[in-house]
Amino acid sequence: MSSEFLLTCQCETEIPVRSTQAGGTVRCQCGLEVFVPTLRDLRQLPGASTLADDLTKRRNWQLSNGVLFAAGVPIVLLCLGTFIYATYMRWPLELSKPDFREFQYEHDTDTLSLSESWDAWLSFRNMQLDNRPTPPYLVSRTRAFQLLGIMTASGVGFVIGMGCILAALCMGRSEPR
Ligand SMILES: [Zn+2]
Repeated sequence: MSSEFLLTCQCETEIPVRSTQAGGTVRCQCGLEVFVPTLRDLRQLPGASTLADDLTKRRNWQLSNGVLFAAGVPIVLLCLGTFIYATYMRWPLELSKPDFREFQYEHDTDTLSLSESWDAWLSFRNMQLDNRPTPPYLVSRTRAFQLLGIMTASGVGFVIGMGCILAALCMGRSEPR
């Protein structure tokens, strides 16, 4: 419990007074003589140290607001940019399997005669099998999956960043007690 109280002068300067000054007068820096109330009335005034605590709390609050805000804005912008970029990159990717025959032979292998199937076997055996690149749609699917991961991560980051900004804004509006 502090024995200091804050009197407010007409010029709105707050003058710290001690309980021992109750009933007397103090001179404000503006030159006015300010009447100090009796001890009982003095107790209704805010304690100076409490008020100082509040000011410190408020300052800390504003600092953490600033940090939150300063962290939130770049996170939001970065994530938004990444999300848009990933969406833009993913959009044109062709993901459906194109309609092509993987096994090309002019006859239905179920209806071949024995000699025909022997010929078929020979032709397949002599066929030059080469290494073919992975079909584009499969490459696209892998890429799309990676981009989806990036989009999800940036979405989560965006929400976190917005949370920081909102928290900073809401905390700034609340009145210190
Ligand atoms: Zn004054």
